[in-house]
Amino acid sequence: MLTDMHLHLQDIPDIHMCKSVLALAQDMRVGRFVCNGTRPEDWPAVEKFAAEDRRVVPFFGVHPWYADKLSADWYVTLEGFLKRNPDAGVGEVGLDKARNIDLARQTEVFHRQLEIAGRLARPLAIHCVRAWSNLLNVLKRSLPAKTRFMIHSYQGSPQGLKDLLNLGAYISFSWKSLERHTEESIALMRSVPLDRLLLETDFPYTEPGRIGADAHDEKYYETLQGVYDLAERAKGVDVEALEKAVWANGTAFLSGAPAR
Ligand SMILES: [Zn+2]
Repeated sequence: MLTDMHLHLQDIPDIHMCKSVLALAQDMRVGRFVCNGTRPEDWPAVEKFAAEDRRVVPFFGVHPWYADKLSADWYVTLEGFLKRNPDAGVGEVGLDKARNIDLARQTEVFHRQLEIAGRLARPLAIHCVRAWSNLLNVLKRSLPAKTRFMIHSYQGSPQGLKDLLNLGAYISFSWKSLERHTEESIALMRSVPLDRLLLETDFPYTEPGRIGADAHDEKYYETLQGVYDLAERAKGVDVEALEKAVWANGTAFLSGAPAR
């Protein structure tokens, strides 16, 4: 069984396409979709997807791109969503220097969500673009004890990867790894221990930071299979062992249960 550890069902522009992705899941052997909210406005849609389909795991969070567009009591609303959904995680959160949004404000919003994740014992899905040293500093200082976290769509350096693994990170790879020079992607995947590896599509964001014209159901399954194939090559394990490991890692990340 495959697991997609990070996507945004609520951002698929066509509801029929979204339904078709979920309808094909059984035939395509996908058993879990970790659906990340990015701002208060999309949390109700994420909650609805999870209520309607048991395979959808909801994450509620404020993405750094929206850190400067929040009402004063946004974190009260966030806690409400998390408390109503005991299996939900906190995400997508993080830091992004590629967008022109005040880094101090991003950091403040990120800190608040780290604190909430720690207090409610929820896993965290973290986004980071060009802010790796800032991210490491924040995590070293402020990651609450025993908080499980994943770095989604990892695109940092080999050294950054080591530092994050030392802090206990799960590392997730997406289609962006397929687009990069494959040897480089394979080397990064190879240096993630098999019990910390996660895989994802980040669908429908099939292009950097945006929804591509090719964001349709076939592309979705092609992408998910593509990252599994790449990981299989990188880790040199057979497909069954890889699928089992990534599924177990997903469960451990989400629920805190031991990986195997
Ligand atoms: Zn995302």
